Amino acid sequence: MVCEKCNTEISTGLKFCTKCGSKLLEGAPGKGLVKVTGILFIVFGVFGLSSSISNAISNVFVFGDLPEFSLSRSLMIIFMGLRIAGSILYIIVGVLGIKYCKYTEKGKLFKCFAIIVIIHIIVSSIVSILFSQALSTDLGHDTNLLTTIIGVIAWSLFGSILPVLYLIGAQKKINTLRGN
Ligand SMILES: [Zn+2]
Repeated sequence: MVCEKCNTEISTGLKFCTKCGSKLLEGAPGKGLVKVTGILFIVFGVFGLSSSISNAISNVFVFGDLPEFSLSRSLMIIFMGLRIAGSILYIIVGVLGIKYCKYTEKGKLFKCFAIIVIIHIIVSSIVSILFSQALSTDLGHDTNLLTTIIGVIAWSLFGSILPVLYLIGAQKKINTLRGN
């Protein structure tokens, strides 16, 4: 096995690194989960980034329909910004996950990022509901608030699967560090 601190190769069975003396953790807990979810984060991040940028470009034309200083227009800009920022966040979270998945001490960092992703999903959901309502008011459409909310919650729960799995992997690492 390899020491997490100094990367020295150490024969199995030892409890401490022969070079730096730090405690050795067998099997890198949560490694597989963080790595697989990390890869998916990058896939969704890259896909999300390209689709949100192309969406933002095409929405520039839709702006023509929206009143200039309207709530719907402001919310649309915020929502597009959140989507682009979220996609970049997913790529960062994915790269960190793949790069550091075997390091038990990175558990807290992974947990932190998983929580930021979940907060981003909640904020985006609230903005998208507000946007949908503002849009129907500004354009005089009739949309059902309850249907919108149910749709957004369902979509958010689906989107939360990935950060929750990442969080479980992180927690495994944190628990291992606490247990030792
Ligand atoms: Zn070491």
